[in-house]
Amino acid sequence: MIVSVTADAPHSTSEAVLAAAAEHGLTARMLPDGNGGAAIGISGVVPLPGLQLPGIGEIKMVHKPYMLASLEMRPASTVMVGGVPIGNGEPVLIAGPCAVEGRDELIEAARAARAAGARLLRGGAFKPRTSPYSFQGFGEEGLRHLAAAREETGLPVVTEVMEPDQVELVAEYADMLQIGTRNMANFPLLKRAGQITKPVMLKRGFASTIEEWLMSAEYILAHGNPNVVLCERGIRTFDPTFRFNLDLNAVPGLKELTHLPVLVDPSHGTGQRSLVARMALAGIAAGADGLMIETHPDPAHALCDGAQTITPAELARIHRTMLAMRATIDEQFADEPLVLDPIVLSA
Ligand code: PEP
Ligand code: MN
Repeated sequence: MIVSVTADAPHSTSEAVLAAAAEHGLTARMLPDGNGGAAIGISGVVPLPGLQLPGIGEIKMVHKPYMLASLEMRPASTVMVGGVPIGNGEPVLIAGPCAVEGRDELIEAARAARAAGARLLRGGAFKPRTSPYSFQGFGEEGLRHLAAAREETGLPVVTEVMEPDQVELVAEYADMLQIGTRNMANFPLLKRAGQITKPVMLKRGFASTIEEWLMSAEYILAHGNPNVVLCERGIRTFDPTFRFNLDLNAVPGLKELTHLPVLVDPSHGTGQRSLVARMALAGIAAGADGLMIETHPDPAHALCDGAQTITPAELARIHRTMLAMRATIDEQFADEPLVLDPIVLSA
């Protein structure tokens, strides 16, 4: 059930609801509703007489199974990543190589990405590779290179975590942890990611439904971390022409289901460099809160995913076009905004 608590409710009211849930052995999580009040999601039914308290608003018994992630819980959220807002209406560009390739290489890539308009740096230190013989990433050394690149450029960093026991280590270095497509339904990993407060970018499983994806986000929220960002990165269909197929229905579709910000990754979503710019911009047209794009000063020699990696010059063109497009879309769709009063989440 979802219990709304009004802005003027005494603190004791939300405390009493949380205590009542605990007494019944239920999990309860509270998120601010953006109007000074809060919504409390409870993993079952607390007898209503126990809720005759001042400041209790609407009580919803019927709601989506991903209750904390759903729009029924609160309107659009903004997640802060090292000082950069995601979900406040201004699209954010996240760029960098697929894998961290060395300290100097990463700093060079980060400078180029920043000059092209990126606000966040990406780069994998722990890489999930299809082949055990492919480069697996530099591990913790790669995390140190990411920290050095942040120091040099001021760009907050996003990097993947693959194992539950690595969550704390990666969180020491990263500003946002990435959970990749192959781990979207790794529930022990999701639970651990729920126990930290650093933002988590949850990529869609390439064979997962939108509801399964939102249930995975729910795991992170239910374990206590409200800072979740979704990333559509392409799904597998019957058609082998492209590596994956970017499902752009998901973007405006998610805006009708969840308050969580939504990013688009046109690199993995196409697998092909020549398609990246247009699909990136299609993601912006669809209403994405940002783009994550694999970028490398010399894509032909990238250690990982070179075929889908673009140059900083191409990234700069996407950035320019993205800003112009967004302004036009906001003007033309002023009566149907995708972002309604975003609320900044905090742990
Ligand atoms: C990546 O971002 O480099 C990556 C491995 O992504 P995905 O999990 O979407 O394949
Ligand atoms: Mn990649």
